[in-house]
Amino acid sequence: MGGDRQMYQGNWSCSECGAAITELPFQPNGTSPLYCRDCHRQKRGNTQRSNNNFRERRTFNGNWSCSQCGAAITELPFEPKDDQSLLCRDCYRAQRNG
Ligand SMILES: [Zn+2]
Ligand SMILES: [Zn+2]
Repeated sequence: MGGDRQMYQGNWSCSECGAAITELPFQPNGTSPLYCRDCHRQKRGNTQRSNNNFRERRTFNGNWSCSQCGAAITELPFEPKDDQSLLCRDCYRAQRNG
C-alpha cells in the first residue's frame, strides 16, 4: 500500500457554486450533492455557526393557566393548541420525576 491517498478523477460540478470538480477523495454515489473545496469549507463553518444559534430557543408569550394547579403560564417553548392541557414548570417537572 502506498502512502498516497487515492483520488477519484472525473467531471463533476459543485452543487453550490457550479465550479468544476475534477478530483475527489471519495467516489461520488450520484445522489448526494458535491461541493468544491471552497464551498465545503464554507459549509462546515456555517454549520458550526448555526449550531451556536440553536441555543437561542424561541418562546411564545400568552395568557394560559396550568391544568394541574391553575398557576399562570405566560411563556412556553412551543405554541400550544386550543384544547391542549398545559403544565406550569413546577408541575411539569413533578410529572417527569414522578
Ligand atoms: Zn462551490
Ligand atoms: Zn402547575
